[in-house]
Amino acid sequence: MHEDIKSVLITEEQIKKRVQEMGEQLSKEYAGKRVILICLLKGAAFFACDLSRAMSIPVRMEFMVASSYGDGTTTSGSVAVRLDVKDDIAGMHVLLVDDIIDTGLTFARVKTLLETKKPASIKTVAMCDKEDRRQNGLEADYVGFTIPDEFVVGYGLDYAGDYRNLPFIGVLKPSVYARA
Ligand code: 5GP
Ligand code: MG
Ligand code: MG
Repeated sequence: MHEDIKSVLITEEQIKKRVQEMGEQLSKEYAGKRVILICLLKGAAFFACDLSRAMSIPVRMEFMVASSYGDGTTTSGSVAVRLDVKDDIAGMHVLLVDDIIDTGLTFARVKTLLETKKPASIKTVAMCDKEDRRQNGLEADYVGFTIPDEFVVGYGLDYAGDYRNLPFIGVLKPSVYARA
């Protein structure tokens, strides 16, 4: 455990098991289809890469950057797309992958943009879901873990750029925010 972490919410073992399950489920549901995983950087990079390797069907990878968070712990409300996909996704089955769905504004904004590129389908995959915080009624199509409304870090999730490489998902000590 790390000195800035108050408690571990999801262990490394639980993450591995769940990612494997999700990969197997997606492989069944998308067998025979042209699939592209679109990963929202930076947070979803760890999860998306592991998920892609847990899938037994061919998948392409793309990366986007959408940001609403500064260095704080609550959303600013407006989501800006700072890096768009490079490949043509027309006719492909898109799995849009993020580290966490909170208010739902990020998925809503990015989905709207991707729809203009005429993919065959778009579904959302969230490693974590804080369902109590939703502002727009959007449901992720695939969810790794439903979690309480606490600010979490690790396995891709950061606070002010730190903690992404922790192998578990945990809750930060309040004293860490107080330092900011
Ligand atoms: P939404 O747009 O759904 O409100 O928020 C999605 C984004 O907010 C995520 O991609 C993530 O960057 C950030 N976020 C929301 N909750 C948390 C959290 O508990 N921890 C961290 N590190 N980021 C979060
Ligand atoms: Mg994010
Ligand atoms: Mg972040």
